[in-house]
Amino acid sequence: MEGFPLFKTKSEVYKKFDLTDVNSRKDYFDYKCGEEIKKLREFLKNNTFIAYLLGKKSSGKGTYSKMFAEVVGREEIAHFSIGDMVRSFDEIVRDSAKKKEFISFLEKNYRGYMPLDKIIEALETRSTKVLLPSELILALAKREIAKLGRKAIFIDGFPRDLDQVSYSLFFRDLIGYRDDPDIFVLIDVPTAVIDERVKFRVICPLCQTSRNLKLLPTKNVEHEQGKFYLLCDNSNCLSVQQEKPARMATKEGDELGIEPIKARLDKDETLIKQAFNLQGVPKILLRNSIPAEKTSEFADDYEITPAYSYQWNNKEQKVEITEKPWEVKDDQGVLSNSLMPPPVVVSLIKQLVKAIGIGS
Ligand SMILES: [Zn+2]
Repeated sequence: MEGFPLFKTKSEVYKKFDLTDVNSRKDYFDYKCGEEIKKLREFLKNNTFIAYLLGKKSSGKGTYSKMFAEVVGREEIAHFSIGDMVRSFDEIVRDSAKKKEFISFLEKNYRGYMPLDKIIEALETRSTKVLLPSELILALAKREIAKLGRKAIFIDGFPRDLDQVSYSLFFRDLIGYRDDPDIFVLIDVPTAVIDERVKFRVICPLCQTSRNLKLLPTKNVEHEQGKFYLLCDNSNCLSVQQEKPARMATKEGDELGIEPIKARLDKDETLIKQAFNLQGVPKILLRNSIPAEKTSEFADDYEITPAYSYQWNNKEQKVEITEKPWEVKDDQGVLSNSLMPPPVVVSLIKQLVKAIGIGS
C-alpha cells in the first residue's frame, strides 16, 4: 500500500538475537527499544490508551498486539477482538441461560433500526445474509470492554465496515476512556505474504498445532515420491499404522490461498485507506515488508523471515533443508523481504511513544 514509510530497526552496533526464542527475544527488545519500553511502562501505571488495529485478515494483528503485551506488560494491556466476540454469539444463543441474559441486556442497551427479534433469529439460524447492525456491535463491545477492567486496549476488527469508521472517532467516549489517547494502527502486508502463509500452512491432525511448510518447519521432515511433509514435534502425536510422528497436512481450502477471501481482503484494504485519510487522530503505520534492495540498510539479517526449501539426498537417504531470506513481490510488484514480527513490534513501540506524547 502506498504511503507506508520504511522503518529502520537496524542497529548501529550489530548484535545477533534468536527471535524465535522467548529469552533472546526479550534481550532483543531491550537492545532495540529499552528506553521506550520503560517510558510506556511508566505511562501505563496511571494511564491507558486505545489502539485500533486495522490490517487485512491474516496480517498479524493478533500476533503484534500479543507480542507488544508480552514485552510491555500483560497486566496493563488487553487485546480485544470484535471477530471473537461475534463468533461467541453463536454459543450464547444456544445456551438458554446465556441467551436470556443476552436478550435482557440488549433490551436495555440496544438502540437501532433492526428489530431485536430479527437479530436473534439471524444469530440462531447462523444467517450470514443479515449483517449485524453497528449499533448492536457497539453496545456489546462496550459491555465486554467494561469486563476487562481498566487497561490499555488493542481493538482488533473495529471498524469493520466503512460506516463504522466514523463511529470509531467517538468510541473512546462511549466506553468511558474520554481522556485517554486513541490511535489508529494501520498494518500493511503484501497480499503475496498472506497468500503464502495460507497456502503452505499445515496442521497436525492430532494436536491441531499449526506450522508452515515454507516458513515454519518442524524438526523432522519426511520425503515421499518427490513431496515433503512436516512431522509433528509433539512426541504424543504418532501415526496410527507406523508408530512414527504424525504427518502434518493442509486444511481443505488452504491450497487455494487468498482466493476464497479475496473480497474480504479488498474490503479491508478500502477500510485501511479510509482510516489513512482520517484527520486529527494519531496514526501508526506498520509495514511488514522491505524492498529487497533496501533490506540491508533498514534491518538486521535475523529480522528477516527465512524461507525453507527441501531436497532429497538419495545417497544418504535424508532430507536436506536450505534456509534463505523469503522473497515475495509486494502489491506494487517490487521484490521484497518480509519482517519477522519482533521488528514490526519495535516499530510499533517507538511510534506509539511519539503518538501518545511521551517521547523525549
Ligand atoms: Zn501433533
